[in-house]
Amino acid sequence: MILQAENLTKSFGGLRAVGGVSFTLEAREILGIAGPNGSGKSTLFNILTGIPFGPDSGRVVFEGNEIQSVAPEALSRSGIARTFQRESIFPSLSAVDNVLVSVEHSGRRGSDRENEAAAIAALDAVGFPQTLHNAPTATLPIFFRKTLMMASALAMSPRVLLLDEPASSLTPGEIEHMKALILKLREAGISILLIEHVLPLLMTVCDRLVVLDQGKVIAQGLPTEVVADPKVVEAYLGQ
Ligand code: ADP
Ligand code: MG
Repeated sequence: MILQAENLTKSFGGLRAVGGVSFTLEAREILGIAGPNGSGKSTLFNILTGIPFGPDSGRVVFEGNEIQSVAPEALSRSGIARTFQRESIFPSLSAVDNVLVSVEHSGRRGSDRENEAAAIAALDAVGFPQTLHNAPTATLPIFFRKTLMMASALAMSPRVLLLDEPASSLTPGEIEHMKALILKLREAGISILLIEHVLPLLMTVCDRLVVLDQGKVIAQGLPTEVVADPKVVEAYLGQ
């Protein structure tokens, strides 16, 4: 087990966005986090990483250490990195410079040449085309903005990677590329938490699924078992 969440909660005013969520992530596992819109998936990632806020209560244990109070910068240096549901890139910077920002915050910062080589290696790892390395990122198609965001996360050398809806807004062909990329990252030894609203992608890449509804875990287990669970069917139909 590489990551364990215990009874995490987060409220916004009177709204309990995450209401006592517990799960474990095994080393090199791909654990899917599913659930209808508004069920608390992104908030769960926020409180796991402290970006932009930690949990109200509960514990997060990463490689044996409690991390729920560790500052986000220190946490990403210690081996947990994430992507965001809405692409968070610096639109005025080139692709390489976007990833360089991560390299320079990774705690593995070296000479300028070493940093640039690390940024390019992260872009290569996600299959980002060399012809776009120096293009202004504001104009990139969504697939490349998503893989760029993954390259920035990989530049932190994470052992746990949190992906928030990496396949949303992609074409079916792009989703196949994204699936292959996620499986390749796991082959490289990274343990992955994968949020997706759409169940079919999760079904084909995840080892296990956790399903949230209204901030609570309503089902978890093997993907085939979970999608057949009447509680899950009802939560998805009810939205
Ligand atoms: P999901 O990612 O599953 O679609 P979210 O975690 O984004 O769901 O949201 C869960 C609930 O918490 C929603 O009702 C949402 O409106 C609310 N919420 C999320 N972030 C905030 C915030 N920063 N302030 C207030 N409410 C929020
Ligand atoms: Mg979300």
